[in-house]
Amino acid sequence: MRNDGLFYKHSGKFGPLTFVLPVILLPVCLVLAFIYTYAVVYIPLVGYVTFLLTGGFGFLVAMAVMMLIVFAKVRSGLICRLTGLFAGLVAWYLSWAVFIHLMLKRADEPVSFFTIVFKPFGIWGMAKAISVEGWFSIGSGGANVSGIALWICWGLEALIVIGLPLLMAGQAIADKVFCERCGLWSDEKEGVLLRRPTDGIDLVGRMGQKDLGVLAELEQATASDTCVYRVDVTACKSCRDFFTTSVKEIAITINKEGKPEQNVSTVVKDLLISRDDLNRIRTIATSSPGGEETELDNEQIEIEEDTETVPAENA
Ligand SMILES: [Zn+2]
Repeated sequence: MRNDGLFYKHSGKFGPLTFVLPVILLPVCLVLAFIYTYAVVYIPLVGYVTFLLTGGFGFLVAMAVMMLIVFAKVRSGLICRLTGLFAGLVAWYLSWAVFIHLMLKRADEPVSFFTIVFKPFGIWGMAKAISVEGWFSIGSGGANVSGIALWICWGLEALIVIGLPLLMAGQAIADKVFCERCGLWSDEKEGVLLRRPTDGIDLVGRMGQKDLGVLAELEQATASDTCVYRVDVTACKSCRDFFTTSVKEIAITINKEGKPEQNVSTVVKDLLISRDDLNRIRTIATSSPGGEETELDNEQIEIEEDTETVPAENA
């Protein structure tokens, strides 16, 4: 049985800077909304390109949200989603304000962006008016996309621009560990051990009972293995007294183009360990020869070189 108390979980707390996030996100979304909408209106290609632009817009907003969530030390999934939703809605609304601004400019009836942005009902009215005739066509000489088809395009656009930041926000901290005592994100070190999955050894079950000896029972993976367990650790760089370990399964498959592809899945996530446990993992790493190069392996190589030079000097 897995004992949940043995695993790290985000506390649900957030740093005071969280309250400043909307103030930072507003100008970020504004700049991105301008770039996106100018690109959509002035790049003459429509179709897939437009949706690539929309995806890029939503993705960049999401990236900004993710960076700021880490910066503000948010450890709450709910706050992550709320921040993502806020940024998505703001970015989407601002892109509409820029769009109406550009459409009016094109019709030789310029109205400043700052007049439009505070008139949501004006934007709505303009959207309805534009939807009747449409504003772009697909292919040369074709009729404008208008009516229901245009509303579907706009709906998909909204879904992407609001949805991406909302869905991606939580990913910012999904694999991070926070030392509550020091108020810091822990450093992560990937691949301190690479092991070969072995039949009859229940890694998940035994790690779930904090039985790290199971790692020593698994064989060291070699470069030819197509499926390996990668053991990662996190450490708080401030107190040096807060550690976790995770195990990821790395499966290498050959894709349709014949190129190797890595599929990473989490097997054990953020088991809390002591300094002694960490040293135990280090010992296992240094006592198993061969396998992939890791920093710990390099340390081991240095030790081996030292022992080789001693007899050489004596000779
Ligand atoms: Zn700490």
